[in-house]
Amino acid sequence: MQSSLDRFIRKRQAPAESNCGEEEECQEKEPKTTEDMEDSSSRKRYEEKRKQEGRSFRKEWKKTFTWLQFDETKQEMFCTACRKFPSLADKNSSFFTRSQAFHTGNIKAHASNRRHEACVFTKQQREQQERGSQNVVQSLKQMSSDTEEKMKKLFNISYFIAKHERLFSDFEDLCISTTF
Ligand SMILES: [Zn+2]
Repeated sequence: MQSSLDRFIRKRQAPAESNCGEEEECQEKEPKTTEDMEDSSSRKRYEEKRKQEGRSFRKEWKKTFTWLQFDETKQEMFCTACRKFPSLADKNSSFFTRSQAFHTGNIKAHASNRRHEACVFTKQQREQQERGSQNVVQSLKQMSSDTEEKMKKLFNISYFIAKHERLFSDFEDLCISTTF
C-alpha cells in the first residue's frame, strides 16, 4: 500500500520535474522575473516612502491624537496625558519615556492602551474641574465689581446727604430712587 502510494506521488511529481529546463518552463519564468522586478521596485518605493514619512513627526497627527506632543529639539514624541498622571500610566510605554518611532501604527496602539485611556479620562476630568473653578473665580470677580459699583453709589449718596445737610432718613429714600 505504502509503495503504491509512493509510486503515485512520484508519478504526479514526475512531469513537473521533467519540465525543468524546457522552453515551456522558460516562458513561465520570464514573466515571473518581471513580476519580481516590479515587486522589488514597488518595495523600494514603499521603503523610500516609509523612510521619508517615518523619519519625521507629522503635525497633523496632533489633530487626531490631541494628547500627542512633539519635542522639536529632541525630535521625540510623547503622550501628555500619560506623563501628567504617572501613577496611572504605563511607565514602560514608549509614549511615556518618549519615542522616535514616528509611525501611526504605534500611535494608534498607544491610543487604545487601557492605562493611556485612564490617563486621558482623568486629564479631561481635571480640565473640566479647572474650567468650572475658573468660572467661579470669574463670577466672583464679576460680583465684586458689581459690589464695588454699588458701594460707590452708596458713598455718593452719603456724600450728597452730608454736603447738602440733608437728614440721614433721606438716605433710604435716595437709595430706593437710585438704580443699582
Ligand atoms: Zn498616553
